[in-house]
Amino acid sequence: QLAEEEGFDLDEVGSLDEDHVPMPVLAVVGRPNVGKSTLVNRIIGRREAVVEDRPGVTRDRVSYDATWNGRRFKVVDTGGWEIDALGLDGLVAQQAEQGIEAADAVLFVVDAVVGATDTDDALVKLIRRSGKPVVLCANKVDGPSAEADAAALWNLGLGEPYPVSALHGRGSGDMLDAVLEALPEAPEQQFGTLTVGGPRRVALIGRPNVGKSSLLNKVAGEDRVVVNELAGTTRDPVDEMITLGGKTWKFIDTAGIRRRVHQTAGADFYASLRTAAALEKAEVAVVLVDASETLAEQDTRIISMAVEAGRAVVIAYNKWDKMEDERRYYLEREIEQDLVQVQWAPRVNVSARTGRHMEKLVPAIEAALEGWETRVPTARLNAFLGELVAAHPHPVRGGKQPRILFGTQAGTKPPRFVLFASGFIEAGYRRFIERRLREEFGFVGTPISISVRVRE
Ligand code: GDP
Ligand code: GDP
Repeated sequence: QLAEEEGFDLDEVGSLDEDHVPMPVLAVVGRPNVGKSTLVNRIIGRREAVVEDRPGVTRDRVSYDATWNGRRFKVVDTGGWEIDALGLDGLVAQQAEQGIEAADAVLFVVDAVVGATDTDDALVKLIRRSGKPVVLCANKVDGPSAEADAAALWNLGLGEPYPVSALHGRGSGDMLDAVLEALPEAPEQQFGTLTVGGPRRVALIGRPNVGKSSLLNKVAGEDRVVVNELAGTTRDPVDEMITLGGKTWKFIDTAGIRRRVHQTAGADFYASLRTAAALEKAEVAVVLVDASETLAEQDTRIISMAVEAGRAVVIAYNKWDKMEDERRYYLEREIEQDLVQVQWAPRVNVSARTGRHMEKLVPAIEAALEGWETRVPTARLNAFLGELVAAHPHPVRGGKQPRILFGTQAGTKPPRFVLFASGFIEAGYRRFIERRLREEFGFVGTPISISVRVRE
């Protein structure tokens, strides 16, 4: 009602509601220099995946959101590994394999002008073995004269080669149409019961050696079932159903946890690729940290990945059996300093070795999921905002006082708020609102987003 008085279009607000739906994942695979990064830039329509002229630059981000013909999917660029003494062929194959495993479909990029090389043939074998749907991109077809080069790639036996110039955009539309056909609608949606009222999806993540595989073995015991052994559940063999606290949970990409990835160049890169793909499919992330060691930059980076992916988050401090008083003291200081931005995440101090506090894991996960799904009715939100704004008005700027006029929760999973204001709202005031929202409504274990629209 208030919104109408202020002249806002409520239909527009309604359309903001896009509750979390897991997106299918496309892995872009190919030899170095065939144009993968250029193509990823083309697909996401931004200059975000920086193209490096030299190989060996590990990029921070590996996963990007893309939209084509109104459908959204994730693109993972498998181009970021480092070349080392292992030899190019072996390394490319080994690392592409992991990229393929984590994906729902593969976009295989070949340099059409160079033609298929032995490395390309090796990659074809890998892709075939994976059984994943594949689209063949014949790249660097900058003009009609190179079309014949593209046609020669029929020989790879992967079906139609799509001639594309990643650099100029030529042909990329047809290729993307084929990509959409290859991708499942949404990974979990086909298994309706799993999404509605079925097992909740958990990603167990953390840097190497924090104890992920030990924790998994502890909680799964001997009862674990690899999901593809359960007829009709899912075709993805990397997830496991695990019964915990009397409920069944779907642990995402446990194959990636159990299989020890050899410490080769690029292993970190692929670890973060898998983490990104697992987060994409999960609802809640249990981030495991080794409490007995100083928090590493990689720990905070993985926590940030979970927050940025918009997942519910639980932080489990493992190896508590090794904790001594002194270390405990420093850990608390580290948490205060480095993890302030996730103060809201439930914390459990566990030991995968002794089983300490395993029973606290499920209540923490449930609390986080509850916060993640919380919806505040509009009337209640506005009553709260009204009081808040009256008691703590935004500071006056340039003789004007920006006011929050109306707010609505546009979505859940995670909670997203849209506030309408009469002027620019400063970041500090936004943070203040977030803090008060959390105090009032809980939102344990979930990131929340607040966007402000200024009324013209
Ligand atoms: P990646 O190693 O597979 O990620 O390859 P990059 O995207 O870094 O591209 C390698 C080189 O090929 C760069 O110099 C690009 O500018 C160039 N390149 C990429 N796509 C095309 C294309 O469609 N046509 C031409 N002529 N060059 C391209
Ligand atoms: P991952 O790489 O994260 O899967 O880690 P692992 O589960 O392989 O564990 C790495 C090492 O830490 C192994 O030697 C484990 O035995 C050890 N570890 C895991 N959890 C605990 C724990 O709670 N306490 C102690 N003391 N060691 C642990």
